[in-house]
Amino acid sequence: MKPTARIAIVGGGWAGLACAVELAAHGQAVSLFEAAKQLGGRARRVEWQGLAIDNGQHLLIGAYHETLRLLRLLSSDALLERRPLEFDQPPRFRLVLPKLPAPWHVAIGLAGARGLSWRDKLAAARFIHALKRQDYRLPADGPVRALLDRYGQTEALRRHLWEPICLAALNTPMAAASAQVFCHVLRDSLGGGRADSDLLLPRADLGRIFPDAAAAYLQAQGSQVRIEARIDGIEQHGQGFRLTGQTEVFSHVVCATHPAQLPGLLAALPELEPVTRLLADYAYQPIETLWLRFAEPLPCARPMLGLDDGPGQWLFERADLASGLASVVISAEGPHLEMSKPALLEAVLGQLRQALGPLPALRDHLSIVEKRATFAATPAMRRPGNATALPGLYLAGDHTQSDYPATLEGAVRSGVACARLILAEAETLR
Ligand SMILES: Cc1cc2nc3c(=O)[nH]c(=O)nc-3n(C[C@H](O)[C@H](O)[C@H](O)COP(=O)(O)OP(=O)(O)OC[C@H]3O[C@@H](n4cnc5c(N)ncnc54)[C@H](O)[C@@H]3O)c2cc1C
Repeated sequence: MKPTARIAIVGGGWAGLACAVELAAHGQAVSLFEAAKQLGGRARRVEWQGLAIDNGQHLLIGAYHETLRLLRLLSSDALLERRPLEFDQPPRFRLVLPKLPAPWHVAIGLAGARGLSWRDKLAAARFIHALKRQDYRLPADGPVRALLDRYGQTEALRRHLWEPICLAALNTPMAAASAQVFCHVLRDSLGGGRADSDLLLPRADLGRIFPDAAAAYLQAQGSQVRIEARIDGIEQHGQGFRLTGQTEVFSHVVCATHPAQLPGLLAALPELEPVTRLLADYAYQPIETLWLRFAEPLPCARPMLGLDDGPGQWLFERADLASGLASVVISAEGPHLEMSKPALLEAVLGQLRQALGPLPALRDHLSIVEKRATFAATPAMRRPGNATALPGLYLAGDHTQSDYPATLEGAVRSGVACARLILAEAETLR
């Protein structure tokens, strides 16, 4: 690395932190600026009545290789509980993938699934096989629903399998979601190695899993992490860049903010106008997490359950954060947005009673709605790359060009990709 390289990262979400950690791991110190009081962005710790909870329940899978690599470097991978994939939607549906080599784990798991007829199972097997034969690449993108129609996917498969996967991974309703991105998700999960479909459940608040460990690592390596340090703009200064309100000139700047924040940040850089025009077409989808604190632990046989019929989609037992604590996730837009908060709570409690029987007394509850939780992963979407028209200026975040929908792994891969571009560029200048 050039001794004169000075690197700034704007945004301390998982993308910005991943970029900083990757650079630090290669001996390069950075200055990271985060606007909020805490690091983590859309996957962060939130304080609630003396408890550390999350802004939103998150789930990782075994295919998150880059995220897991960084968590291992930081020794925080042990805070994730790894379990073979289990979709349990009591009393109607249950799919468990056994610990067998791929693709037998999917074949045997599907054959033994409860709640699917043999016709359903054959249709699912044919669908997965057909996608695999074409390497999960579609001749043209379109909505997930049209893909399922084309491959004769039954009502039961849509309801119990494909719609839950589409909502959980793409956070976009099937009628609007990109079939190609959906295929990438299937390729890397059900179509990947045996362990790629494993579920990794956070067993600590999200702050402890990555942001805290990353900040400690960065500081130990000589980097600066500054919170409550909003950057309002970036301008060119000679061969480098200046951040509004800062005196230092940086040779490299990585913009790792939410995509909706980028147009403001890049306003003084006309070369970046094509990027801001691209981002103007982005639509966003919400995620609501309902935190429920019961007087006693819920009678859950497993830490994660699917909920049928809406509005709640998934229930997570979070005894790791507090006894009797659970979270219910509602991904993407839907009729729940029209419900009053008391009506939504009652409907979700009704779903839990149906799945689990009588519930312990509810002591407290909190709804957290992230209105722009992720971009809507729609067909043939155009996304900006990591490098920009200005040498030295990079974009990182779940929204940049990749196979992935807006996920932790997408954010981390993007951050790591920026770090590698900077390291490679500096290498050629040596
Ligand atoms: C409720 C919810 C549930 C989710 N569930 C899952 C899940 O189960 N699995 C999964 O893989 N993904 C999930 N996601 C998606 C995942 O959280 C995101 O894809 C990921 O966190 C995005 O990270 P990022 O670093 O790209 O962006 P962000 O997290 O948005 O980070 C951007 C950072 O930049 C900071 N910033 C913005 N403007 C400025 C500025 N001007 N100056 C300085 N700093 C600035 C922000 O404060 C923020 O910290 C979920 C998201 C939400 C909201």
